[in-house]
Amino acid sequence: MSETTEQSSHVSKYTRNNPYVSTVTVNELLTAPESEKETRHIELSLEPGMTYTPGDAVGILPENRRQAVDEVLAALPFTGDERVLDHYKVEIGLEEALRTRLHIGKLTRSSINQLAKLAPDHAGLKELAGPENKEKAEDYCWGREFVDLMTDFPGTIAEPQQLFQVLARLTPRMYSIASSQAVHTDNVQTTVRVVRYDSHGRSRQGVASGQLGDRSPVGTQLPIFLHSNQNFRLPEDNSLPAIMIGPGTGIAPFRAFLEERQAAGHPGKNWLFFGEQRAKSDFLYREQLEQMHKGGVLTNLHTAFSRDQAAKVYVQDRMRENADELFAWLEEGAYFYVCGDASRMAKDVETALLEAIAKGLQGTPEQANEYLAAMKKQKRYQRDVY
Ligand SMILES: Cc1cc2nc3c(=O)[nH]c(=O)nc-3n(C[C@H](O)[C@H](O)[C@H](O)COP(=O)(O)OP(=O)(O)OC[C@H]3O[C@@H](n4cnc5c(N)ncnc54)[C@H](O)[C@@H]3O)c2cc1C
Repeated sequence: MSETTEQSSHVSKYTRNNPYVSTVTVNELLTAPESEKETRHIELSLEPGMTYTPGDAVGILPENRRQAVDEVLAALPFTGDERVLDHYKVEIGLEEALRTRLHIGKLTRSSINQLAKLAPDHAGLKELAGPENKEKAEDYCWGREFVDLMTDFPGTIAEPQQLFQVLARLTPRMYSIASSQAVHTDNVQTTVRVVRYDSHGRSRQGVASGQLGDRSPVGTQLPIFLHSNQNFRLPEDNSLPAIMIGPGTGIAPFRAFLEERQAAGHPGKNWLFFGEQRAKSDFLYREQLEQMHKGGVLTNLHTAFSRDQAAKVYVQDRMRENADELFAWLEEGAYFYVCGDASRMAKDVETALLEAIAKGLQGTPEQANEYLAAMKKQKRYQRDVY
């Protein structure tokens, strides 16, 4: 067997349906306690032969927290000891089903619609169900979880098995890999922002990130799998420059890229734009990045800390300030990468990129669009946004 075939067979041995039971070997807070955010660095053990490439992600199969399960059970006429059939028709206890199989987190319209089918005469549910009530139902779902639905519409579920009809399956959460295996042979590292918020009178947390934040000390076992992403890769020609835009947890794959390029001695230049709220509390991997900058592997390091001055500054503003050099790098054949928030950042970064291209070309927006389209065709514009 060739090395490549051997490696890919190892990667595919563990999947979301057949995960590897990994052990948490490091779980550290990256943000300072006074930060408004809570971002953690997590290292998970791998079995020899499990391989990944910078740009890949790791999938984690989470469990709902016990308190959330207990709250749901308290809102239902069940004890948790009832027997149910899971998605594979395997008989398990209801408590286990609610903890490990069913999505009891963030409420979806689908759950409302399914519940309305079970209780067709319920006037309150009727007002939220169906396509005609889409907007109302979306408003209702915002900030609510399944427990709220059960509290607001008690008595609508009569049989434990009906929960499988109303609730979606608990799915794995993906995390960009933040490490290079050229440096860390036996583990995979991630950068996780813990989701916590209060809404409708309850303290909530993200299922997976809450688990990693509160209930995954060193030694905890977690089912994981590696997920290849061929659309997010370092330049094939390792002499070409890389421009990386990675605010917040978007830094993760770029830490992996930089570790890889440093370990392999790639001659290509590297430029990182990192952004967060405050330098003092939110500069993720500061020491390592500054070392890389000092050592030369990170040619340029630009940071944007939005709350450190009166006027908010973001990564796209740093791109604008450095538009000429950015365009010069693109002309040298640089690859341009974006990772992190899909809702606003990715769009704002693309706008700033198009502006830099138009300025560099001394051309029109249409010409900038064509230039970017050509970059995409050459796989020199890659995004991993979520
Ligand atoms: C390819 C890929 C790579 C990713 N890489 C990373 C990464 O490197 N690091 C990382 O941290 N994440 C990453 N993510 C996101 C990650 O997969 C999870 O989606 C994230 O951790 C939240 O999952 P959770 O289970 O903790 O939260 P969930 O239980 O899924 O809940 C999250 C949901 O809660 C709701 N919510 C959040 N805040 C509020 C609020 N204030 N008010 C009301 N509702 C709210 C939102 O609807 C949100 O979608 C990545 C995602 C993908 C697809």
